[in-house]
This record gives sequence, C-alpha cells and structure tokens, in this order.
Amino acid sequence: MTTNQIRIKSPGEIDILRKAGKILSSIIGELKGSLTVGMTTRAIDARAEALAKKHNVLPAFKGYRGFPASTCISVNEGVVHGIPGGYVLKEGDIVSLDMGIIHDDYYSDTAVTVAIGCVAPEIRRLLDVAQASLYKGIEQARADNRLSDISFAVQSYVQLHGFSVVRDFVGHGIGRQLHEDPEVPNYGPPHQGAVLKPGMVLAIEPMVNMGTYRTKILKDGWTVVTEDGKPSAHFEHCVVITQQGPEILTKW
Ligand code: MG
Repeated sequence: MTTNQIRIKSPGEIDILRKAGKILSSIIGELKGSLTVGMTTRAIDARAEALAKKHNVLPAFKGYRGFPASTCISVNEGVVHGIPGGYVLKEGDIVSLDMGIIHDDYYSDTAVTVAIGCVAPEIRRLLDVAQASLYKGIEQARADNRLSDISFAVQSYVQLHGFSVVRDFVGHGIGRQLHEDPEVPNYGPPHQGAVLKPGMVLAIEPMVNMGTYRTKILKDGWTVVTEDGKPSAHFEHCVVITQQGPEILTKW
C-alpha cells in the first residue's frame, strides 16, 4: 500500500463523515446506557436498528457480505463479528458493541466494550488497557507519520500491560466504502507503510485479548472467539488526520 492509493477526503466529505460520526456516537451512547442484566443480544440489536431509523441512517452491517444483523455483538471470549441472538446478558459479562451506519452515502464505524455490572478486576483492567491502546494508536494518526506507527503504538502499549493484540483482524480506511484502503493492523514494527496525510480517514480498532492473540471462527461462519476462551475487548473510532492532528469523528 502506497500513500497515493489511500483516498484523501475533501473538506465537504469530511463534514459528512463528521455528521455521520456524531449520529453513530449518539446511537452507541444510547445503546451502552440501555444494557442490563437479562437482556438478549437480539434485543440490543433491535434497539440499534430502531435508533438508526430514528436518526434516518442505514445500519451498514446488515447484509454486508450476508451479515444478518445491524450490530456485531461479541460477549466475553467473543472478539468481533458476533451475531446477535438469544444470549442473555448476566452480571460480570463484557459486551462488545460494534456498529456501522451509512449517512448521506458515507460510512461511519465504531465499537465499544461495556461491562455488565461488576466484573472481575483483571477483566476491568483488560477493558481499560484496550480502550487506552486505541487512544495510543490515535495519537500516532498524524501527518507525516507512517501507517505502522499507529500499529506499533497499540501493540507496545497492550503488551506492556501483559495482554495481546489480535492479528487476524485489522482496522481500515473508511469513507464511501465501509472498508477502504489501507488496512490498519494493531501490531508490527514502527515507521513502515504509507505516509499519513491530512484528509485520510481511518477506522482504528484494537482487539485486545487477555490470553493468546489467536482466534477462531465459530460454525456460524461469523463469530470470532479467542482460541483459549479467555476474554477479549474491542474499541474503535473513526479518525480524520488534519493539519492540527487526529480528530476523532465518533467520540462516545
Ligand atoms: Mg471497523
């Protein structure tokens, strides 16, 4: 991937992406606040779909390569791409909510992992480190840095705290497509890959595992879980690189 293959968004496009990000943030905020013990992941998805309708945006994941729901909901050892269903939330669970929307032909994408009630201290730490690693990555999304400066910042922070970063799934460019170039890995050496430029928009999304970084896909063909069954957390923001530094488009 060279710098020239990455689309630079115009100020007009960035305004639309900003609006899309704002709408998505408010949807995710409402969803987060609504999670309670006893709720099924299917009910969360239904609520997400209703909120999308209320805000006049389309859920981007539904039908994407055949995905059957508006959100990906991944519980505990679930890493990403969990299909909402009959699972009933219980005290001590962690729930990753990942949602994309289309507003005015542009995509926005965000993810957050939420604790249900009281969680074990080590799980709390996993959530804190995973979330902080996202911001470590975002800090590196600056003009004239290279793409893998983001990757390196995420990985070093996570590993410093004794956790691991998933290799099998990565972040991505975003705009008129949900997944645009470049891929944004959460691991790797610094100072490699494309040179970052103002107007690039990236979805940065570390997936952080308590144990091994290895994952496997369940028989439903979608749900990604940790190979060792230990918990995993996922946080994602869309970020535009500006002359003044990174601007988060999906602040929740
Ligand atoms: Mg994404």
